[in-house]
Amino acid sequence: MAGSSTSAQTAALYLVLLGAPGAGKGTQAQVLSQKFGLLHVSSGDLFRDNLKRETELGKLAQTYMTRGELVPDDVTIKMVAERLGRPDGAAGAMLDGFPRTPAQAAALETTLVALGGKVNLVLYIKVSPEALMERLTGRWTCRGAGAHVYHMKHNPPRQPGVCDVDGTELYQRDDDMPEKVSTRVGEYLTKTSPLIEYYRGRGRLAEIDGERPIELVTKDLFAAVEAVRR
Ligand code: ADP
Ligand code: ADP
Repeated sequence: MAGSSTSAQTAALYLVLLGAPGAGKGTQAQVLSQKFGLLHVSSGDLFRDNLKRETELGKLAQTYMTRGELVPDDVTIKMVAERLGRPDGAAGAMLDGFPRTPAQAAALETTLVALGGKVNLVLYIKVSPEALMERLTGRWTCRGAGAHVYHMKHNPPRQPGVCDVDGTELYQRDDDMPEKVSTRVGEYLTKTSPLIEYYRGRGRLAEIDGERPIELVTKDLFAAVEAVRR
């Protein structure tokens, strides 16, 4: 997992996937993290795991998640910083759904400096707001630890209702219902989309057209990451 090193130890690689709910971050994060040997850190999956285990953090997050609103920055930042600092993240991480506000972006810089790294590249998956509703209301998520995602039309599982990877049951998230999707997209537009300019201004943004078949989006993402690794 730590990646092969030649004479010198390879520096950790930190990638961020940025995009609206339904843009394809989780789908692509799973492929990218495997390809580049990175830890996949999804803030949404971390919250859902806490919710399942009924931790204090899970109970707090649930109030916001069921409304489709962002969880407050302080708890979100603490949760992600703790996850990044564990040994299995030493080779770097593929951040999916974090940062989502300017305060989270600033905290991420500080956290990565402390770990001896930085945000190497932000992959912005661009999808029009009109396409998001159809993607989210057709999304099926696996209950297993990997939280694999499917779409009844665009990426169906081999057997309906069952995850191809680990055989667990697929379910539709409560917050993928149409009224919640509207709130979540609204949260994205007001609070998260300013990060596009923030990272563009720092020369760290790669913009990818996410409104194409999954494999073609993956191809462009691979190419963008390979370019910064050279
Ligand atoms: P999606 O993959 O569809 O964008 P996520 O699984 O990332 O959705 O997020 C689900 C919910 O979890 C969000 O609506 C929000 O309530 C909470 N959440 C996830 N990541 C963050 C974050 N970085 N900051 C605040 N809240 C978050
Ligand atoms: P996010 O993590 O950004 O919320 P997901 O990766 O969960 O997005 O994808 C949302 C839904 O859209 C899922 O049902 C997924 O199968 C589907 N999807 C992902 N990428 C594409 C794509 N390029 N074209 C069509 N559907 C896609």
